[in-house]
Amino acid sequence: MPSKPNAASRLVFLAFLLVISAAAANDDAAARRTMEQFAGFPASDDGEGPSSDFHVDSEGLQRQIDELASFSDSPAPSVTRVLYTDKDVQARRYIKGIMNQLGLVVREDAVGNIFGRWEGSEPGLGAVATGSHVDAIPFSGKFDGVVGVLGALEAISLLKRSAFLPKRSLEVIMFTSEEPTRFGISCLGSRLMAGIEELAQSLRKVVDNQNVSFLDAAESAGYKLNLEDLHSVFLKTDKYSAFIELHIEQGPILEKEGIPIGIVTAIAAPASLKVDFEGNGGHAGAVLMPARNDAGLAAAELALAVEKHVLESGSIDTVGTVGILQLHPGAINSIPSKSHLEIDVRDIDEKRRNDVIEKIRQSAAHISKNRGVELSEFKIINQDPPALSDKSVVDAMEFAAKQLNLAYKKMISRAYHDSLFMARVSPMGMIFIPCYKGYSHKPEEYASPEDMANGVKVLALTMATLSLE
Ligand SMILES: [Zn+2]
Repeated sequence: MPSKPNAASRLVFLAFLLVISAAAANDDAAARRTMEQFAGFPASDDGEGPSSDFHVDSEGLQRQIDELASFSDSPAPSVTRVLYTDKDVQARRYIKGIMNQLGLVVREDAVGNIFGRWEGSEPGLGAVATGSHVDAIPFSGKFDGVVGVLGALEAISLLKRSAFLPKRSLEVIMFTSEEPTRFGISCLGSRLMAGIEELAQSLRKVVDNQNVSFLDAAESAGYKLNLEDLHSVFLKTDKYSAFIELHIEQGPILEKEGIPIGIVTAIAAPASLKVDFEGNGGHAGAVLMPARNDAGLAAAELALAVEKHVLESGSIDTVGTVGILQLHPGAINSIPSKSHLEIDVRDIDEKRRNDVIEKIRQSAAHISKNRGVELSEFKIINQDPPALSDKSVVDAMEFAAKQLNLAYKKMISRAYHDSLFMARVSPMGMIFIPCYKGYSHKPEEYASPEDMANGVKVLALTMATLSLE
């Protein structure tokens, strides 16, 4: 019955929206108008359809979050879970177990990105996907990424309990190694899925700080791969019709403004630079000021130039940081003969960010000339393009928040996520929920059960809507 499920699932969806708007209570007429517009025919209220209300199992979700947090190499409340370690393998097993319980078809690719699929009535169409990561940097918290995996699985469970029937298949993805902890590569799984050939090449050679190669580490976690297998991770661009990531904000805005849902319209992307200056050094007492070429002062001047160029952009969205500044030999009575800076510049506008980088380059050259020090290195380590959310996904997220009577704010993600790379192979959007004081990457990280439930509901309804398109 290939043509019927569409109409049937639309009917179920309508009933399903009625349940939601009844749960949300207010302004029935407006909700009904939206539903009718969406469906293209009048809504009926004759009691047909799902009997359950649109209720998130917050206790169950919290229990899963706590259980997952127990797979950690540091004591609670901190969480440490690094790529391909025993704890990471245990966490993977735990996620696959929940996927199996939900009746999803589980698949893993060569590097351990995990996919749980709920087959829709038209499985040939691009699927609607969601997901995030469960690796955790040393001594961090239990919500970063995890809300977007376990919350997504709860969204699937919620749709199943509501008797929803997807047309496009729905998938939950657990991405391998969003954090750069082990191999210095952030978003390793999603970058590879996005088909970045340089990454496939560098994974052949990369080692961790114990000199364990990526391939050996993967094998120890049960992913024995041949070099050619890395290319099998690349996704086809029609594989997904949409990708949505649910995530804690990792910033203070939603909590401060008392808004439950953030709809992300763009993800800023970092560029990172390494700069080295070399001078002659010398004795701090003996070398007179006019005779010096102080590599430390060159670095200090460049750090201030970074701030100046960032501010000159005129946009609040341009940010720049000198996170590392090292002096050699690092003795109180020695003029620095070498200095090393690492600079992070981010923006949601790629050209504006690259203009800042160009100005930093000019300043570095200028400072080197003026101070008689050599600019021995100016290297752009990475320069990822920012990503814009897709209008179709943003519209579906807004529709969902409105149906659920949840206030929302359109905002920018200043941290980057797997979504940045998924945007290269699929229309993308992100849902943010508030987190305590904006804390992240530390044990105090916290999101309330109520905020998580709101995020799960918006995600579920967004996926349902996009699944029927
Ligand atoms: Zn994250």
